[in-house]
Amino acid sequence: TCSSRALEHVDEDGSACCDGKCRARAILADGRPRAAFLAIRHRNGWRVPVSSRMIPLRSDDGRIVGLADLFSDRSEHEKNRELLERYRSLSLVDPLTGVLNRRGIETCLDARMDEFTRHQWPFGIAFFDIDGFKQINDRHGHEVGDRVLVMVSRTLSLNIRSEDAVGRWGGEEFVVLFANAHDGELAPYADRLRMLVETSRLDGFDGGLGVTVSAGVAAITPQDTRSSLVDRADRCMYAAKRGGGNGVAVCSGC
Ligand code: GH3
Ligand code: MG
Ligand code: MG
Repeated sequence: TCSSRALEHVDEDGSACCDGKCRARAILADGRPRAAFLAIRHRNGWRVPVSSRMIPLRSDDGRIVGLADLFSDRSEHEKNRELLERYRSLSLVDPLTGVLNRRGIETCLDARMDEFTRHQWPFGIAFFDIDGFKQINDRHGHEVGDRVLVMVSRTLSLNIRSEDAVGRWGGEEFVVLFANAHDGELAPYADRLRMLVETSRLDGFDGGLGVTVSAGVAAITPQDTRSSLVDRADRCMYAAKRGGGNGVAVCSGC
């Protein structure tokens, strides 16, 4: 199957595409083209969002003899390339992972806070922390730990919209800013990213090396400062950890 080793694609719900809903098998049976939004696995482990269109290939006499699967990259990362270059020149980019550093994401947060004050455009953040990351370093060494950080960063940065932003807050902690997002939208957005991290995998370790993340989400309120917003999301992240990790917790009255 194409899920083993090569693509390892998952659909929007995080289900492996070969588990009982193989589009190739369906097209070979009925000849109808099919389209889907998927995330395929990059050779270096992270998840790349793609759209896929599968079409049957027919012989001259009309028999289905094969099929073609056309992928196109849906990540909006390219749109941000110029912005990232500018941020790099201002030392606002983390050299290891290539996402914004703490000052970089703080700069973005300040800009969104100003917009919120002026126009009431809502936004929110998710605070992500890798589960049990110390163990990865202890077991496999710091260099592998670094590759895992790059993998997680790329999965986050490739799978957000161009108006959103991701920054490395500290060692194995990341803040994702969801622009123009309302309260109820944050948890599903964060959970999709959580799922994409869970299904990212470094090759070369008996079955692949993966990690999970815990996240807390918080929506901006008129009373917030930058640090009160981040603190709230951070505290909720710990609620997700207490729930066993690999989950998203929503701030409720904290
Ligand atoms: P928890 O599930 O509670 O989050 O546990 P944890 O092990 O993920 O968290 P902890 O805070 O105990 O460990 C974080 C580790 O991250 C410790 C530190 O050595 C490692 N770390 C921080 N920055 C880097 C880095 O740049 N590269 C590597 N390889 N490791 C780093
Ligand atoms: Mg931490
Ligand atoms: Mg951690």
